[in-house]
Amino acid sequence: MTSLDDLPIRDDLRGLSPYGAPQKHVRIQLNVNENTHPIPDAVAAGISQAIAVALATVNRYPDREFTELRDSLARYLGHRLTRDNIWAANGSNEILQQFLQAFGGPGRSVLGFRPTYSMHSIIAAGTGTRWIAAERDEEYRISPETAVRAIERENPDVVFFCAPNNPTGTPLPLETIEAAYDATDAMIVVDEAYVEFAPAALPTALTLLPGRPRLVVSRTMSKAFAFAGARVGYLAADPAVTDAMRLVRLPYHLSALTQAAAIAALAHTPEMLAMVDDIKAQRDRLLDELPKLGYPVHESWSNFVLFGGVDDPHALFERLLEDDIIIRDLGIPNHLRVSAGTESETTEFLDALARITAEQAASRSIGRIGA
Ligand SMILES: *Cc1c(COP(=O)(O)O)cnc(C)c1O
Repeated sequence: MTSLDDLPIRDDLRGLSPYGAPQKHVRIQLNVNENTHPIPDAVAAGISQAIAVALATVNRYPDREFTELRDSLARYLGHRLTRDNIWAANGSNEILQQFLQAFGGPGRSVLGFRPTYSMHSIIAAGTGTRWIAAERDEEYRISPETAVRAIERENPDVVFFCAPNNPTGTPLPLETIEAAYDATDAMIVVDEAYVEFAPAALPTALTLLPGRPRLVVSRTMSKAFAFAGARVGYLAADPAVTDAMRLVRLPYHLSALTQAAAIAALAHTPEMLAMVDDIKAQRDRLLDELPKLGYPVHESWSNFVLFGGVDDPHALFERLLEDDIIIRDLGIPNHLRVSAGTESETTEFLDALARITAEQAASRSIGRIGA
């Protein structure tokens, strides 16, 4: 059989592994931070109708500039942004890929702070951009000083922040972004995939955009909007950044069906985001309940919780799978990550974990008696 190594693949891709979150048919899926609430039937009907209209002219290429979608996204974001500030793609992963095609690439580097979203380094590899991993402070935070020190040491062409951070849930102070921006001539990207789950009153990196043409805020409809399967991500930045994206995007990269679906979904923003408060409540339940079971948690402003105190993460992951529950093992020693589900999913996860933890404690004490 032919293996990858037999092919004349790019040398810098040899030995790499693809993104690999397991896709299993499990009843309770709390492993990839999806919104586990389906979108409301009435909204789904409206989106279907919009797609049907788009289908009538699908013999033609779609609007290459997806103007109406950029208008809708600008309206959703507010902050006096207009369509000229907005770029969209098939998921924010594609946004980041196009971004690194334009601002990274061979001979250039991107700095990130580990542990962070695994796709950041994978997209760097795919675009031939050298990935530099810097360390965080206590509790996965990044102070302005820590960010500036890493930037001055490594002198990267691009800096990636993730706010709140995946997989830790950690918030990022705006002061860190401002200090990083001032410390370099590099492009600064803030991945705000989970920002809708942060406290609503707090300012996001969008507030820092005026006067900062090298700052880019990346967003997605995959999480809060419950639109992961539709593949819609976007960025807000200076119009010059969107011009850079035009140089590398494939023409017509956003299908007419995707554009129609996203515009229709954004027209129903309140209904689409209706479950966000409930998801935050379930996250807060996880933050309260996991420590009571002996698993200390890390502060989370997102729709998932990273918890520690796990003797054997792989074994616990597998044991939960036996109960038809999948969560995420990210290779962080003694830790696992779980997404906040619906109320009943979250209850089932917590109940199963309590049961398994009690079983393990019982078998340990039997082990001691036997020894
Ligand atoms: C889930 C996630 C995304 C979303 O990716 P899409 O391609 O938009 O589905 C982006 N960034 C982070 C940090 C994520 O966790």
